[in-house]
Amino acid sequence: MESIRNIYKVGNGPSSSHTMGPAIAAKKFLERNINASFFVVELYGSLALTGKGHLTDITILNIFGEERCTIKFQYDMSYNYHSNGMKFIAYDKNNNEIDSWLVFSVGGGMLKELNEPRNAFKNEVYPHKTLTDIINYIEFNKITIIDYIKLFDKDIFDYLNMIFDTMEETIQRGLNNLGILPGRLKINRKANEFYQKYLKTKDFNTLVYSLTLATCEENANGGIVVTSPTCGSSGVIPGVLFSEYYHNKVSKEDLLECLAVAGLICNIVKTNASISGAEVGCQGEVGVACSAASGMLAYLKAHDIRYVEYASEIALEHHLGMTCDPIDGMVQIPCIERNAMSSLFSYNACNYAMLTNGQHKVSFDSVVQVMKETGYDLQAKYKETSTGGLAIKLK
Ligand code: SF4
Repeated sequence: MESIRNIYKVGNGPSSSHTMGPAIAAKKFLERNINASFFVVELYGSLALTGKGHLTDITILNIFGEERCTIKFQYDMSYNYHSNGMKFIAYDKNNNEIDSWLVFSVGGGMLKELNEPRNAFKNEVYPHKTLTDIINYIEFNKITIIDYIKLFDKDIFDYLNMIFDTMEETIQRGLNNLGILPGRLKINRKANEFYQKYLKTKDFNTLVYSLTLATCEENANGGIVVTSPTCGSSGVIPGVLFSEYYHNKVSKEDLLECLAVAGLICNIVKTNASISGAEVGCQGEVGVACSAASGMLAYLKAHDIRYVEYASEIALEHHLGMTCDPIDGMVQIPCIERNAMSSLFSYNACNYAMLTNGQHKVSFDSVVQVMKETGYDLQAKYKETSTGGLAIKLK
């Protein structure tokens, strides 16, 4: 598996697969065709169908320059490899094609080329791919999960420190910013309102909602967020983490360890299944974020990898089948509220696991496989194409 660094990326919302991934690809293509006169970018599958709502076109045009780039939305074309395909074509001043690149934004800002193996990466640092193998290694060597992460992911805690600070800055901006989010839906930001209610009542759930909304509303507004593991699901892990920081006074040192554990859970899903709503629905985005948050809470309570595994398994199992049907292709409804619901659900899943002796029948790795299979069985209209479900109910 790759470093946890590749789970937590800093960038502009609203979508890691529809804005961050295309932006990274566009910059790479521009670098290798710096003398080109003109560019055409074809968007396929989900990138075509929800590209406008997710601001994919604006993101790409900002990189190449509007005056020398045309975006073509190929609504009827999609590759089986992954729904988020895009083709960059460069032309010289005589209108001759000089370069082209077909590439896929496969979730969390990650890029892959056609038929490139999905579970193999160029810079793998972890020797294991499943949680079962990691648990066996940890128990055989009598080390902790944090020892394990430090052993293979060098200097990761310096990076996580920066990620923690960036998450907090996003939350603070989200708590302070008022007004209406962009787009036809005219959704009022709620993070500040909820936070004021928390200050009066000190009700913990209200704080969890508020801090989760703060990140999601910044994301919907195109602000800077940390993918955790994606932009669409970027509210859950920070919402839970900073509720523990502000309300329960957990130390930053302990929370950095939580962030590492959550990153490892996301990494396992990214490696063995998918964190892309366009590929497996929202179970792969908010479902995975909830699973990782629940695992990190279990770590905080028990420091025991077996409870981390169980809490993560419960949370993911009970998001199985969750569809992705954003209205107008925007990361607003159902995304923002869904993050808030799943932040609280991560506490439920953790608390349930902690009430048991840790024994359970279904492993986390099995649920990851089921999530992948369920995602592949979902019809395309429920996978970030905005052609079914909630997306067509609000006229
Ligand atoms: S419904 Fe879920 S997967 Fe789809 S865009 Fe919203 S957050 Fe992402």
